[in-house]
Amino acid sequence: MDRPIYMDYQATTPVDPRVLEAMLPYFSEKFGNASSGSHAFGWEAQAAVKRAREVCAAVIGAEPMEMVFTSGSTEGIGLALKGAAETCVPRGRHIVTCATEHPAVIDTARYLAARGFQVTWLPVDGEGRIDVAELAAALTDRTILVALMAANNEIGTLHPLAEIGRVCRERGVLFFCDATQGVGKVPIDVRRDEIDMLSFSAHKLYGPKGAGALYVRGKDAPVRLAAQCQGGGQERGMRPGTLNVPGIVGLGRACEVAAEELATEAARLTRLRRRLHDGITRALTGVGLNGPAEPRLPGNLNLWFEGVDAAALMMEMKEVALSAGSACSSTEREPSHVLKAIGATDRQAHASLRFGLGRMTTEWEVDRVVELTVRGVRRLRESAP
Ligand code: PLP
Repeated sequence: MDRPIYMDYQATTPVDPRVLEAMLPYFSEKFGNASSGSHAFGWEAQAAVKRAREVCAAVIGAEPMEMVFTSGSTEGIGLALKGAAETCVPRGRHIVTCATEHPAVIDTARYLAARGFQVTWLPVDGEGRIDVAELAAALTDRTILVALMAANNEIGTLHPLAEIGRVCRERGVLFFCDATQGVGKVPIDVRRDEIDMLSFSAHKLYGPKGAGALYVRGKDAPVRLAAQCQGGGQERGMRPGTLNVPGIVGLGRACEVAAEELATEAARLTRLRRRLHDGITRALTGVGLNGPAEPRLPGNLNLWFEGVDAAALMMEMKEVALSAGSACSSTEREPSHVLKAIGATDRQAHASLRFGLGRMTTEWEVDRVVELTVRGVRRLRESAP
């Protein structure tokens, strides 16, 4: 059987050949440890890490010295939230986040709640948006941190980062942004948006798995984070351990390519996503959109099909690699917490499919997925009792 059409780009992305090419020498002849200061192998690795740090910082408008390399977003989120909570304790123990965050944020907030922190969970409207006035009203003089994502991985909602940042900065509260789905896809600028910490992963950005970065504001009132493991003092002591040089080089190259292509790729993916949506809704009735029409993460479409079980639909459409929700919860039959938060019923949530489009998606693939979706939904509806 031919490989399925890949439409799960919010779960992960393939490594771009340009990224792979940049990484390869760092597995073989350029294998040095970036902490080895006494010989050419180390200097070569150090120079590559320095260059990657510059491009990773540039893609979000940060300074190179503000970037902490991690193994990916989950680690960056844990370090930011736990590390900031620990250092801010004298000021307060109140954290604000939102019902539609990724489990990496939700579970870390719950972890902190179990250790004496108070967490306010902001609700969202029917399209996954928070109300910034409600956020402002939730802040108290004991609030230390607000954690809100840039772009939702399931329904593509974009949070108004600049508005959130302004409210947090005015009240002296740290703003952490999980930008795993946003970096390189939508414009983000940590200075303009007044973001204090921001996490992202290479593997959502056509880079390798196991590499990521956390931006921690280091200029004008630097943010202090308590390290979550101890060791050799790398990454300003915040994330000690031998650096993953090939992964970091890959992350850097991935950021460079994404920055160069952001505007054209966002426009292309928006056009392809509309083509997919229009193609399906022209042929079928009883199709609803989860999340906003616009603005939206360009490569994300999440639809629900009246009277159809999404798991059964995926079985009908084996030629397409899709997901019923986030990759992490797609093996569970629990309705997605994101869909529940936007007010979807269990029936709607179980009838929902996420189409994730990306850099390698073609018009032909989109048209084929329209055909297969329409055929699959019709078959299931015809065979329904
Ligand atoms: N945050 C969001 C919004 C995500 O989509 C993901 C991955 O699905 C993560 C965090 C976790 O990223 P990683 O798997 O790289 O640790």
